[in-house]
Amino acid sequence: MAKLHPEKFIWLDGKLVAWDEAHVHILTHTLHYGLGAFEGIRAYELSGDTTQGAVFRLTEHIDRLMASSKLCLINVPYSREQLIAACVETLRQNNLRNAYLRPLVFLGDGEMGLGATKMAVRVAIATYVWGSYLGDEGIKNGIRAKVSTFARSQQSALLKAKVCGQYVNSVLAKREVVLAGYDEAIMLDSSGYVAEASGENIFAVIRGRLVTPPLSAAILEGITRDSVLTIAADLGIPCDEKQLSRDQLYLADEVFLTGTAAEITPVREIDDRSIGAGKTGPITQKLQEIFFQTVRGQQQSYARWLTPIQ
Ligand code: PMP
Repeated sequence: MAKLHPEKFIWLDGKLVAWDEAHVHILTHTLHYGLGAFEGIRAYELSGDTTQGAVFRLTEHIDRLMASSKLCLINVPYSREQLIAACVETLRQNNLRNAYLRPLVFLGDGEMGLGATKMAVRVAIATYVWGSYLGDEGIKNGIRAKVSTFARSQQSALLKAKVCGQYVNSVLAKREVVLAGYDEAIMLDSSGYVAEASGENIFAVIRGRLVTPPLSAAILEGITRDSVLTIAADLGIPCDEKQLSRDQLYLADEVFLTGTAAEITPVREIDDRSIGAGKTGPITQKLQEIFFQTVRGQQQSYARWLTPIQ
């Protein structure tokens, strides 16, 4: 994974501070217990104009940050409009166009213990350059995935929220499969149905139809998932939101992952079984093509998803 390159500023509690001065106290509550919410958002340089950039589905990401905070019983001391403006301002001041944005709502220091309630609610927004999460080669030719022994459980987590501490489950799954030589972990739910990948939603193509687990499944309501469902419907590709079993995935004609970081990444192999022809399939390729045109402003019909940076 590429090393993080520092930028000029990070937005912290309402103002831009120097990158190296965005510190927290060691007794920051969220650092110990994981109650906090975050987002991952991407901005892209617009095609044909290297001076212009836009954030992809910024409003939806900030709305999800607010929803995650609500699920954690955290009152965010800024409005969604203030946070949207702060994201754009941070990108602007860092002179970034192709970038990743990481807003974080966290509980400050001053009180410890699981029952503590008096900590300040703090908000940070970092922006930085981040390439393809699963590699350029992965985006083009597909990755090798493995089903993790760690499961997604709706009984012990609020999976519609991007809660900091919940990501231990994802990190353990990811580490497990990377140590075994694979690129990404696929996670089942506690009944054995396919849920999602460690940080992505999952789609299969079965006999010309897209299949993805429904929102009631043990998954995050991915914004890229929603974008792909919208694009697929507009292309006339039929889609079923329904339960998928592990063997249905193995036998699918195509499988791909969707996420802000991973964008649309084909899966060419799962648990040592090649998927379809073992390379990026035609439906995955078509969806990738429209998606990348969309985020770079080349698809007028989805212009509503872009917030200009300048
Ligand atoms: N599932 C999980 C667990 C994730 O962390 C992410 C990344 N936010 C996704 C799915 C994909 O969501 P999105 O497309 O909104 O980035």
